[in-house]
Formats: sequence, structure tokens, C-alpha cells
Amino acid sequence: MRRLFQFHGGVHLKEHKKDAMTQSVQAARLPKQLVLPLQQHIGAPAEAIVAVGDKVLKGQLIARPASTISAPVHASSSGTVVAIANHPVSHPSHLDAPCIIIDTDGEERWHTDRHSITNYHELPPEKIRAHIRDAGIVGMGGAGFPAHIKLTPGDHVVDTLILNGAECEPYITCDEMLLRERALEVIVGLRIMRYALQAKRCIIGVENNKAAAFRALQEQVRNTGADFIDVIQVPTVYPTGGEKQLIQVLTGKEVPAGGLPLDIGIVCHNVGTAYAVYRAIEFAEPLISRYVTVAGSVAHARNLEVLIGTPVIDLIEECGGNRNTLSRVILGGPMMGTALHNVTAPVTKTTNCILVNSTIGDVPLPSRDKHAMPCIRCGNCATACPIDLLPQQLYWYAHAKDFDKVQDYHLFDCIECGCCDYVCPSQIPLVHYFRYAKTEIWAQQHEKALADIARERHQFREQRLEREKREKQERHKKKRAALKPAGNAANKEDEAKKAAIQAAMERAKTKRENNSIKPKNTQNLTTEQQQQISEADTRRTELNKGIINKQDVQRNPVQDSKP
Ligand code: SF4
Ligand code: SF4
Repeated sequence: MRRLFQFHGGVHLKEHKKDAMTQSVQAARLPKQLVLPLQQHIGAPAEAIVAVGDKVLKGQLIARPASTISAPVHASSSGTVVAIANHPVSHPSHLDAPCIIIDTDGEERWHTDRHSITNYHELPPEKIRAHIRDAGIVGMGGAGFPAHIKLTPGDHVVDTLILNGAECEPYITCDEMLLRERALEVIVGLRIMRYALQAKRCIIGVENNKAAAFRALQEQVRNTGADFIDVIQVPTVYPTGGEKQLIQVLTGKEVPAGGLPLDIGIVCHNVGTAYAVYRAIEFAEPLISRYVTVAGSVAHARNLEVLIGTPVIDLIEECGGNRNTLSRVILGGPMMGTALHNVTAPVTKTTNCILVNSTIGDVPLPSRDKHAMPCIRCGNCATACPIDLLPQQLYWYAHAKDFDKVQDYHLFDCIECGCCDYVCPSQIPLVHYFRYAKTEIWAQQHEKALADIARERHQFREQRLEREKREKQERHKKKRAALKPAGNAANKEDEAKKAAIQAAMERAKTKRENNSIKPKNTQNLTTEQQQQISEADTRRTELNKGIINKQDVQRNPVQDSKP
């Protein structure tokens, strides 16, 4: 007898599960049109590899993963691609998203280039993970994390692989029906996943209100001799199906805040994911269909095996719902589901339930429909919180937009289970505030990241300009240094020229002085001769002084008298 543990808080909800389990699971009708969103998983959206007008076959790859954390998308049936465009999808933002739209041809012709694996244990685990990746399998419990990444332990040693069959939200019964009807396939899928992870042991956790599923699993574990698998019943308390809560209940270990189960040697997958892994390995079938519960105000609540991409309204009508009387449709359960703004949105890989007009019974209304009153500090929310948070404080700071303080109170540990909403006597839409605060913080972080990138770019540019300026100065300096010897030569040339000019001037001066030497043989001259000589001397002197010029001298017929 295995010892079980308890998590803090939680609430007991009315189940509303019986209605949808009165008949076995049937395949849903083939829709006329399939709408396949490029993003049905956590991570980067897939990239379309088909074009409008292309004929596609069932199981054919139509969008490839865009990054490591991404998942491919396959055609759920054969037909023609009629559009690749934005289309309504299930998202809290109510925004449309890119989808590949296929008009089905009704022939259901399979893509033939597929390869199953007969002896998976003869292949290395990485080959199995690659096969699971190529099949586009993501976590089918609602999170949609690519399964092959969760099956890659890296340096960790995985002690326990847990299969989550708790399914604790009201109305949802698709996992229970899968376990009842496909227990063997789920066990085989679990064994394949254990091999991919090289995990030591496995536990399947099933709530104690699912007796038939529990018995079916036990029987198949016995039949297959899989003594490393324990099938354990856990108390029916919401949210036991939460990954961290189930791990705590089954092992007594707590996943550290901000950490992963892998950090404590545990990996947890949904039972639907194990079934998809089985189909991918044994039959080479990519993830193109899943079990979906259609419940609430429909004539025939039931579980259907639905092709991914089938419009929600088709399933509601197939189960006897009336499109003219729809007031509220929720994808998922009443506690954590998303209200649908357009019923032509498709079923995706993570859609487990379609809940029609969910105002019945004791199921809480979505937060935004409540009429909130002031907080009376009763503490009910803190008592109910399975994470042991203080929702009233979180609400107070989220309301005041104090996003630092709200993080101090561990906002990001909140799993948005809605227990606090459910017990609040003042009808305060607490989860609404928590989602709002998370979105604002993510937006601020995104903006900060962009600003940091811009600042880094600016600083890099400044540094580059500064470096270029320095390099330019260096280059000029070197150039000047290289030109210096030539400059010296030029200076020397100038000095030589100056010296030559100086020498010429000296020579001219000497000549002038020589010219002024007194002439000899000047005795016994006549008065007239004396006068002519005096006049000639005067003119020479004036010529030397520049008082008269040469032309004046030439015009004057009187020449220097020479004895
Ligand atoms: S929604 Fe968050 S705060 Fe409220 S009970 Fe759940 S985990 Fe706690
Ligand atoms: S349950 Fe509601 S009223 Fe009571 S403390 Fe929490 S937020 Fe306030």
C-alpha cells in the first residue's frame, strides 16, 4: 500500500461527469472544412509548407516546426488547401491567428510516406524522441508543451515517470474514457516514454472516482507483466490533476518554485499524450485526432474522437446543441477553461472539452461576469489556494498595479486554478487580476528587453565611432611621421636658396662699391671735362639710388666720360 501525501488547500466540486459517459467513444463526423492553427503548442508557431490550391493527404506534414521549441502540424484529412489566413481560434485575447484551412474531399486518403517502429527498444532513445517530435505530439492535458522536449532528460537522471489520469475538473471525461477503452495502448505508450527517458519506474495517478479506469489499467499492467508500473488512486480534490499537486500527492516531493519536475528527478505526462505516442510509434500516425468531451447544454453529452481542426460548432451540433441558443461556450473545464468568442474556432491538440452554456449547477461563472464586492479579509482564498499563496494580497497589489510587490508575493507560482475565485464570498474575479498582472509584467519585461537591445546597439555604435576616430588619428599620425624626412629635405633646399640669394646680394653690393672707385687719370682736365664727369657721377649715383631710370639716362646724350 503506497503512502499518499496532501497538498495545501483545494476544493471539492460537483463532478457533472456521468452524462458524457453513458456511451462509448465514437469518431466524430468528418467536417467539410478543417481549420489548423499554426500554433497549437507552447513555443514558436509552425511554418506553413503548403500553398493555397495544394492537394494534401491525411497525415501529410503541412507546417514544420520553426524552432527547437515548436511542433509540426499535419493534415487531419485529405483535401485541398483553400486558405492560409487568420481565423478565429480559442485564445484569451480573442484575437484571430494564422491557420491552414483545408476543404476535405471525404476520401480520407492517407499519406503513404510513413514509417512505424516495430522494436522501439532496439533503437537509441534519441531516435524515439525524434520520431515523437516529427509526429507533432504535444502535452494533451492542456499545456501543449512539445512532448519530445519533456522526454529529453539531458544530464538529469529520471527516477519516476508519472502519467496523469487525475482529470479533476468538472464535466471533463475524455481521459477517463480513454483509460477505460484504451488502457493497453496507454500502457504501451507509457513504456515507450519510459524507454525514451530511461526512467527507473512509472506511476499512473487516477482519481478515486474513476473505478472503471483504475481497474482497466491494473488489468493491463498485470497482463503485460509491467511490474515497474504502479497504478495509484488519489483523492478526488480539485486541483489534484495539476502537475505539481499530483507529484506532491504521489511522491511527497515539492517541485521548487520556478523549477521543473525534472529538477527532482520526475517527469509527468498526460495519459492522452501516452496514447498519441503509442499511435505514432506503432502506426506512424502523427497527432491528427484526440478524444474530446462535449458537455453542458447539449442533448447528447458524450465523448468523441475528433479530427484536429474540426470547428467547435460542428461538434456542438453533432451532440444536439443549437447554435441559436448558445450563450457561452468554454473550451476546457469551467475552472480553467477559456471562453470562446467565436464557435467556428477549431478543436486543437490541447482541446479536451467543449462546455456549452456552463451557467448550470454549481459551476462558477467566468470571472468577468461576476459582480465584485469589496474584500472582507475573510482569508477563504488563502485557505483554498493549493500553492499556499496569499491571493488577497496578490489581488490588492495587482489592483494597485504594484507589479514589483505582486511578484514579491510569488504571482508567477499561481497556476490559475480558480480555487480562490470559487470560494471568495465577495465574488472578486481574483484570477482575472492575476492574469492581467502577469500579462502586464510580461509586456514590461518584453519592452525592457527591447530597450536593452536598443541601448546595447547605441553603446556599440558609440564605441565603434570612437574607435574609428582613434584609428583615423593614428593613421594620420603615422602618415605625418612617414613624411618627415622629405620635409627636412625641402627645408634644406629652401635654406640653400636663401643662401644663394644672400650670396648674390653680397656680390651685387661689392660690385656697386667697386663701381664707385674713384677713376684714375683725372688730372689736367679741362673745366668742361670736369663738369661732364661731375654730371655723369651725379647720374650714376641717382641711377643707383633709383631716382632716375635707365631710359632717362639713354634719352640724355651725355655719357660717362671715360678718360
Ligand atoms: S488561482 Fe492562483 S492564487 Fe488562486 S487559488 Fe489558484 S493558485 Fe492560488
Ligand atoms: S476570499 Fe475574497 S473576500 Fe475573502 S480575503 Fe480572499 S479576496 Fe478577500
